[in-house]
Amino acid sequence: MSTIVVVGGGLAGARTCETLRTHGFDGEIVLLAAEAHLPYDRPPLTKAALKGELNTQLRTDYETLRVDIRTSTAATGLDTEAKQVHTAGGSVDYDFLVIATGAAPILLPGSTRQLAVRTVDDSRALRDKLVPGAKVVLVGASWIGAEVATAALAAGAHVTCVEFGPAPLAGALGQDIGGRFLDWWSGVDLRLGVGVKKVTDTGVELSSGENIDADVVVAGIGVKPDTAWLEGSGLKIDRGVVVDEHLRTSDPHVFAVGDVAVRWSPRANDQLLVEHWDDARMGPDAIARTLVGDAPVAHDPVPYFWSDQFGHKLQYVGHHGAEDHPVIRNGDDGKWAVAWLDGTGLLTAHLSIDTPKLMIGARAAIAGGVRPDLVALQDITQPLTQ
Ligand code: FAD
Repeated sequence: MSTIVVVGGGLAGARTCETLRTHGFDGEIVLLAAEAHLPYDRPPLTKAALKGELNTQLRTDYETLRVDIRTSTAATGLDTEAKQVHTAGGSVDYDFLVIATGAAPILLPGSTRQLAVRTVDDSRALRDKLVPGAKVVLVGASWIGAEVATAALAAGAHVTCVEFGPAPLAGALGQDIGGRFLDWWSGVDLRLGVGVKKVTDTGVELSSGENIDADVVVAGIGVKPDTAWLEGSGLKIDRGVVVDEHLRTSDPHVFAVGDVAVRWSPRANDQLLVEHWDDARMGPDAIARTLVGDAPVAHDPVPYFWSDQFGHKLQYVGHHGAEDHPVIRNGDDGKWAVAWLDGTGLLTAHLSIDTPKLMIGARAAIAGGVRPDLVALQDITQPLTQ
């Protein structure tokens, strides 16, 4: 009987345990989770959970699944020769290892008085500070920044957002598309093209030397795969843990999945650091089928991400490179969407706003390798066909 050790008690870790049993794995499963909480869902932490108490714990039944789950147990090192994961309480032997340690927020220099919303504890701490009249400074007009701004405005707080880039979401979508969202930010004192030097005991100091007072400072400047514990393990790390399309690392007994993994995508012909909920949800199924089956199973879906902000739902599918160009799609009722095409006219990505049906069609079109007709593409009511 073999032992599979899963490191990381987030969505990918919990799903790995579930799918191993679904596909008939009968050996021992040990789940090492650094947090004191059982695995829970993160997307609501900057959405509904900022409006009131919300239990986002995943419904996985570890007892029925016969998972030896060890909370408050961080992996501190990995010995791939001995096939052992080290923890402060001793070592754990494995036959196969699944790394699902996710990502940790990047913090700003200066005072530790800043919050970054990654955990349920972060979310609760922020929610308690979102009161009428509170001075909230957000650093980064990103996905997280936009969602926190939405909740802070709803709570009656005064919101300032300092963004280094030229528009909200410019890093992800480009300046032109990001600029289209400026109206949504009208209730926020949005300072674009401005850097933060450091967080101070009273707020933030900008690169210009100006200080902004704040009751709470929220850093929304991105995350970094949690790989520090793998230092010296010999695994290939480049931005995150590098894996092939079967989510297998440079060691054949070790897999990585979710936000920590940089996976090879034959579809995109690129190594992708996806960092989306949907990828962490689906990747474990491929690992489980590979581990219990006779042949390796690939994980290469069209990436999907959503964000709820300022009363709107944004849905992005696919993956566009820096060279791909955006085409605006318009509808009669003021609705719009964006499609990205590569140099050959291939549809690589699509953003829809409050139109879930468009997202479904776009996902299928990207999966099908569609090169849409340019005139029809600009009309939101036309199907995304060749
Ligand atoms: P994580 O959820 O980060 O879980 C990893 C776990 O591993 C953590 O609990 C961590 O403590 C633990 N860990 C780390 N190091 C160790 C160690 N050495 N030993 C043991 N355990 C360790 N995605 C979307 O698609 N749409 C959204 O709207 C959206 N909203 C989001 C809102 C917030 C506030 C956040 C934080 C994320 C959001 N995401 C969203 C992203 C999505 O939640 C992540 O892609 C998903 O959680 C990744 O799951 P994961 O299991 O790979 O990593």
